Amino acid sequence: MVEIVLTADRALFTDFSGVNTLGFGLCLPVRLIPSFVEYRILAPPVPIKGGRAVHAPYALGKVEASLLAAGFGRDKVSIVPPEHLEKVVDKDTKVIGVHTVDPQGLAPVSWTLRVMTGGGKTCTALEFEKLMYKISRLKEKYNFKVIVGGPGIWQLRGLEKKFNIDVLYEGEAEITFPIIVRKLLNGEDVPKFVVGKIVPPEEIPTIVTPSRNGHVQITRGCPRGCQFCKPTTFFFRSIPLDKILKEAEVNAKAGAKEINFVTEDVLLYGAKGLSLNSEAVKTLFEKTKKVVGKYGVDMITFSHVTLSSALVLKDAVKYISEIDGLSEDNPLFPQVGFESGSPKIVDRYFRGKPYPWKPKDWPWIVVEGSKLLNENYWYPCLTYIIGFPDATPDDYVKTTEVIDRLKEEGFKGWAFPLFLVPIGGTRIEGKAGFKVIKGLPNEAIESIIAGWEISIDFSRKIYPKIIGKIKNPLVKKIIDMLIDKAFEAMENWVISIRKDPEIIERNFSKVNIRGVRGLLSNAAKVITLGRKH
Ligand code: SF4
Repeated sequence: MVEIVLTADRALFTDFSGVNTLGFGLCLPVRLIPSFVEYRILAPPVPIKGGRAVHAPYALGKVEASLLAAGFGRDKVSIVPPEHLEKVVDKDTKVIGVHTVDPQGLAPVSWTLRVMTGGGKTCTALEFEKLMYKISRLKEKYNFKVIVGGPGIWQLRGLEKKFNIDVLYEGEAEITFPIIVRKLLNGEDVPKFVVGKIVPPEEIPTIVTPSRNGHVQITRGCPRGCQFCKPTTFFFRSIPLDKILKEAEVNAKAGAKEINFVTEDVLLYGAKGLSLNSEAVKTLFEKTKKVVGKYGVDMITFSHVTLSSALVLKDAVKYISEIDGLSEDNPLFPQVGFESGSPKIVDRYFRGKPYPWKPKDWPWIVVEGSKLLNENYWYPCLTYIIGFPDATPDDYVKTTEVIDRLKEEGFKGWAFPLFLVPIGGTRIEGKAGFKVIKGLPNEAIESIIAGWEISIDFSRKIYPKIIGKIKNPLVKKIIDMLIDKAFEAMENWVISIRKDPEIIERNFSKVNIRGVRGLLSNAAKVITLGRKH
């Protein structure tokens, strides 16, 4: 008798064919992603066993663990992929909890891809709508309550009625979520908007359901205080090592190919504020390796790192590379915030990021930090922001200069421009709007193009190593076939935009390759648009 069902939309409830970065493809407008690419390659379905998902998005696993730790029976709680909801939800269901990250396609990557391709609903938004429509139909029949939580809920304020949401839940789940669920089960009133209390790290329960792609959280929050960032609004904590090892083992036992640390900066592990702790980082990798090695897992990756941390903890960077056995053929691809090459902008919006150095040192930190990462076979995706409220042409020129320096140094990685998004709850919210191309100075367009050029060039060289990780041989073959055409299209797209940014609105916004007919009739057009222009 399952009373509490936890789920997420198809753009989240998947393993992205085993390659997390493929998930970014779902941030593109629906019209640019053929259906078979979305549902077979970017977001293949997750199977169930005994009415439960065999693996789940990490956040749902944490919510489930919180409910179990609060005394809810295992038989009362189930994590269910969206395609299987009708099989599990019935008259016994009292609460459905939905995890969301980008329900309206407004997250920075989605917003940027919409702006750069001529707009339209993203796959992330489409999948959220489909899920909520399905839940609404079930709700009419069974009359349960719907709670929606996760980092994307700022996009849903004011849309509660439209999506039939009873409670929007912001913040951490561990303490407050079980209390709210219990109240709902008892038929008590709960507020329509709830903020979860911050949990002390020693009270965070560990996951029971394996997480997709071996995710294990090692830190929460970030002490650097960048104004455009949400995680920094959470109090910084390192998760106790015994809990990390336990979760790593759950995943390894379930067949994870690697353990993937979820963090805002892997080198912050064990830090006191911004005083870094090399030994804690090394012990984390050493002990995790030992535990998961028993199950044949020998790769430990992570999501993010900061360049200033890398320059402070050079020894830890080297240690991680050695213990992971990294090489040209086996590199890591962390996400790294570059943000801007202008010290004025650094000082105004992210002055804590260069610490222990000063904002004026940031261009040097980006170049030297990237060199250090490359020497250790870390090939980063550097993201930078277009549209800081008072950015001048000179600020954009400074960003382009840093990208040019990286190019001269033979940088291996991506430099990906993101249009500023005033994410709800950040310090920049209210000071800035959603940025678009219109009104940007030429210098901003040049800095966008500089990043795209370096990224396309590197992608061409590295893609065989990335798709090598894809588990399904047929999927691997299809991607291999599509990718060359995609690169050609991107190169022509860059040429077109340099000549005339308005081509995005005039031509690119009309491309639709969602269906087979559209794919066939538009593919050639997409590839040749730039040549004809
Ligand atoms: S360093 Fe990264 S995670 Fe930390 S506050 Fe800045 S943007 Fe956020």
